[in-house]
Amino acid sequence: MRGVRGAASRFALMEYVSTRGSAPALDFEGVTLAGLAGDGGLYLPREWPRLSRAEIAALAGLPYPVLAARIMQPFVGGSLSADRLLALCEEAYGRFAHDAVTPLVQLDQRHWLLELFHGPTLAFKDVALQLLGLLFEEFLGRKGGRLTIVGATSGDTGSAAIDAVAGREGVEIFMLHPKGRVSDVQRRQMTTVLAPNVHNIAIEGSFDDAQAMVKRMFADPALSGRFALGAVNSINWARLMAQVVYYFAAALQFGAPGRKVAFSVPTGNFGDVFAGYVAARMGLPIERLVVATNVNDILHRALADGDYSAGEVTPTAAPSMDIQVSSNFERLLFDAGGRDGAALAEQMKGFEATRSMRLTNAQRQGAAALFASARADADDMAQAIRWAWDRGGQTIDPHTAIGLHAAQRQQDLPADVPIVTLATAHPAKFRDAVERATGFRPALPARVGELFEREERMVELPGEYDAVAGHVAAHATPR
Ligand SMILES: *Cc1c(COP(=O)(O)O)cnc(C)c1O
Repeated sequence: MRGVRGAASRFALMEYVSTRGSAPALDFEGVTLAGLAGDGGLYLPREWPRLSRAEIAALAGLPYPVLAARIMQPFVGGSLSADRLLALCEEAYGRFAHDAVTPLVQLDQRHWLLELFHGPTLAFKDVALQLLGLLFEEFLGRKGGRLTIVGATSGDTGSAAIDAVAGREGVEIFMLHPKGRVSDVQRRQMTTVLAPNVHNIAIEGSFDDAQAMVKRMFADPALSGRFALGAVNSINWARLMAQVVYYFAAALQFGAPGRKVAFSVPTGNFGDVFAGYVAARMGLPIERLVVATNVNDILHRALADGDYSAGEVTPTAAPSMDIQVSSNFERLLFDAGGRDGAALAEQMKGFEATRSMRLTNAQRQGAAALFASARADADDMAQAIRWAWDRGGQTIDPHTAIGLHAAQRQQDLPADVPIVTLATAHPAKFRDAVERATGFRPALPARVGELFEREERMVELPGEYDAVAGHVAAHATPR
């Protein structure tokens, strides 16, 4: 339908290019199944689809799955029809426990929460992964292909990914977790999923040991030759795309495009907040995106001073943000810095060698137009949990609390701009930290409450690569 004008065909085919400039361009189906680009970069759309103010205004009041399909349609162009995309969105978001999918809750005149934790595993990662599981099944079904997902988790990603692919055709998942180092709730959310395509492996060692093994599996020809290995971390473009939707959903409720909104985002791998940047690039009027970090503050230093240098990870009460190198930051450096793939490949090679780099002036200026940042230590976090409880009547988890702390530091924003903090985990997932700050212990919602009565299944393996790789090779289905 090339050359035909009109809303439906305006974004007929979307091509994706690598941030490092040399991997071949792919379509949406290709980037969904590929994960990382062959040149080590990350895929991004060749150009951003733009919505006019009238087009944004026309999105107000749509049910979440319909809004999701409208926002994502230009990105999937060429790979999924509008009807098929809508059907997948209805299935993915039909599994959420709240009709609004991502409801807004008011804390005071200024501050709001966007609750992203109403999915099956109580983590915001469900919003993207529930759809990703369906996309895998859709694309593999067409090609008759198979995908063997291997991953390592310190807790939240594992359960959300397992729930998303359990029982799906053509795809299987091997999830490693460090034995005894995830909470009982987190472990049971993974191990009580008994679908035959789900394989839980508890290994002796730390999360870093587990992650190092997964990296080695991707580079091991004995595995990558026989199996089509896939990843579900947020380097996958489809995950970011699904997260763009709730920025629109929230802003529309405040009157976008007629009114601007600011967002504060508890940040680890920079996936969630990058989705906000994409929403802004599509034309959504966003006043500011606040990158909230805990004491693992490489992103705060990078945005405030241009100093992107990694140190050691300090464990905190917000473990999903205990990250030093944020993979998706490369996407911002590429887009805000002028989309020079060759130059970025050089810059990233330098970073990989020394674990340190300076942002260029173009990158700093490009980021400064939209981003601010703030860091919270353990006291700031506990104070924010108490403030939400005393003043807003809400219990919030430690990750959300770090976002709220950063939101409260934005006193220079115009008075009529609401600040929405993304609530990334259900408080019951982090009951001990909430109880320490407020004296109140949040209950697990009924839909996961019977977790402790269910049967568990997992294998325990020593922290040795050969044992783990051998187990995967023995149980995975060849391509
Ligand atoms: C994954 C996660 C984050 C960090 O999100 P990124 O996209 O990696 O920046 C924050 N909070 C919670 C609860 C998470 O699970």
